[in-house]
Amino acid sequence: MTTETATLALAKQLIARASVTPDDQGCQELLAERLQKIGFTVEQLDFGQTKNIWARRGSGAPLLCFAGHTDVVPSGPEDKWTSPPFDPTEHDGRLYGRGAADMKSSIAAFVTACERFMAAHPDHAGSIALLITSDEEGDALDGTTKVVDVLKARGETIDYCIVGEPTAVDTLGDTVKNGRRGSLSGNLTVKGKQGHIAYPHLAENPVHKAAPALAELTAAEWDRGNAYFPPTGFQISNINGGTGATNVIPGELNVKFNFRFSTESDSDGLKRRVHEILDKHGLNYDLQWTLSGQPFLTEAGRLTEAAQAAVAEICGVHAELSTSGGTSDGRFIKAIARELIELGPVNATIHQIDENVELSALPKLSAVYERMLAELLV
Ligand SMILES: [Zn+2]
Repeated sequence: MTTETATLALAKQLIARASVTPDDQGCQELLAERLQKIGFTVEQLDFGQTKNIWARRGSGAPLLCFAGHTDVVPSGPEDKWTSPPFDPTEHDGRLYGRGAADMKSSIAAFVTACERFMAAHPDHAGSIALLITSDEEGDALDGTTKVVDVLKARGETIDYCIVGEPTAVDTLGDTVKNGRRGSLSGNLTVKGKQGHIAYPHLAENPVHKAAPALAELTAAEWDRGNAYFPPTGFQISNINGGTGATNVIPGELNVKFNFRFSTESDSDGLKRRVHEILDKHGLNYDLQWTLSGQPFLTEAGRLTEAAQAAVAEICGVHAELSTSGGTSDGRFIKAIARELIELGPVNATIHQIDENVELSALPKLSAVYERMLAELLV
């Protein structure tokens, strides 16, 4: 098999397995077989329904780890797809199928990059690992986070981590994520006293009490961001109050809101400031918090430079560093990784009907990963 077709062949084998989260459908067994053949020791670290593998070759430093997920989101109505979602199909220079972009092509590219790299540099420096989970798209409770706990307990640390999430906007290599914002949600209930709208002195209107506080929250400056992050943002997603009747002052007002926050703020500080504003306005309230992820950042350095050099050489484009978008498993791995980036194919069709990736992106992505191995481990 040629370099051109090896990644495509493996991506197709993975897409043909309908690994809707967290059911792995044998994807990881297939990967384990390939990795064992080139000298990896593969550990299976399953928790609940979730399958995870930690495959490592070598014991020395530095350790470069490729990370990703074999699970996919459901296909949605199959009859809306141009070709069946779990029947990988080449068409118009593209590969179609659920997981083609998110992220089975990246996983295939990890493996073929390692295969070629081992053949060319059997005595390379450091170690290489793959951390693969079947629970990234679901609850993500038994996946990467649990594997990281195991590694942490053993005192293992990763020097360079490359997550294969689809990060490109228009063309392969145009975007490398070097961090993500944190996400903190609040569920606020402001309490008043229900009454007749014509007798407001006998009631207490929680909408009127909350309005100035909400105005202050929406206008506040939480931080100014930094070189890598935009300023922290506060957004209200839901606001509910009232009985439906036009002559009743409501007894309660419910407000749901979310912070996407930079590394200039921390979750405790944001909580404290929200409470200060609510207290200042004399509100009687309940407030429940949910922290989905802390922000993380890898400053420009050895790993981002290796990524940018590889992308420039193979794809002929400049890779922008970005911290935009939702959260990823990188948030768990960063706890044990010195430097971590995300680099994968174009994300325009992920989670959609007719998800696809450009055929030419597959060998290129594999070549980018191989080039980074050579840069960091030789
Ligand atoms: Zn993904």
